[in-house]
Amino acid sequence: MPDPAIRDQVNERLGDLYERHLPVDDERLDHYYESGRGTYSPAEAGDERERFAVCLATVDGEVYEAGRHDWPFALHSISKVFAYALALADNRREDVLSRVGVEPSGDAFNSITFDERHHRPHNPMVNAGALVTSDLVRGDSTAQKLDRILALLRSCAGTDDLEVAEETFEKEVRTADRNRATAYLMRAEGMLAGDVEELLALYLRQCSVHVTCTQLAVMAATLANGFVNPISGEQALARDRIRDLLSVMYTCGMYDAAGQWAYEVGVPAKSGVAGAILAVVPGKLGIGVYSPGLDAYGNSVRGVSVCKEIAAALGLHVFAREDEDALLGTGTPAPQQLTER
Ligand code: GLU
Repeated sequence: MPDPAIRDQVNERLGDLYERHLPVDDERLDHYYESGRGTYSPAEAGDERERFAVCLATVDGEVYEAGRHDWPFALHSISKVFAYALALADNRREDVLSRVGVEPSGDAFNSITFDERHHRPHNPMVNAGALVTSDLVRGDSTAQKLDRILALLRSCAGTDDLEVAEETFEKEVRTADRNRATAYLMRAEGMLAGDVEELLALYLRQCSVHVTCTQLAVMAATLANGFVNPISGEQALARDRIRDLLSVMYTCGMYDAAGQWAYEVGVPAKSGVAGAILAVVPGKLGIGVYSPGLDAYGNSVRGVSVCKEIAAALGLHVFAREDEDALLGTGTPAPQQLTER
């Protein structure tokens, strides 16, 4: 247990950060919706002002929350991280690689493009790749595969409560034309086999799992802690493929702004179109941010600025200079770092 005074300081600082990011810039938010790239309208996103939360979970099991941390939202693309983790755990590395690449695509998450040279989706963090990784999850039926994905999500979040939200799933199915087209094209090209509708439903179901921002931060901390949930102590998955997973999150996790994110923030992360970001500071910290207003790439506007600020303040960038790193100092307990400016 950290010193209560340290806890207070961290909470105060997090509250400060939250307040500073509360005002939103409507013009930036509109841009994504007007671009017509997504099916996610502002009405669906709800009131931007109300829905904002920032949570941190350390590998020591400390959790810090600011804002609407208990407001549920759909994982959407963040579920791709966990489907890929299972695909990696269930298959040989080269077999996964032969079906889905590890190259950033530079295209939108739902674009119907492939790595033509290797005849596979570019990476597991775009929709085409996630369809393949869902297919690679072991299970005799899609129901069994979904159960395994849910079990992993629950164990990472440290709760048995995570479920597929049926209303989200039904909406996803109604607006799945691009994903359906992608999946059928991939089957025609020999990148997928089997029942496309079942696979599509499996993918859309995992996208429709609801979590809170606190749970998201704990899931991130579990990844930061080598797949050991720092609160329950449960080993959610073997840790031996975590490097592969985090590498792909680092290069491909933030849609077609992944390069900019790696440059500015510099930690593995994944965002989803509900406006959530899960960011991982290996060996130290998990960060969860939720705020539905999206930018032109599909990333949460507030989420990106909050993470940029946390990374800068704590010297989290993997290539941070020594003096920036001093804020973190290996071995220094994370809560303490959070109180230093
Ligand atoms: N369910 C969404 C889709 O497949 C997820 C997209 C995302 O979060 O990037 O279109």
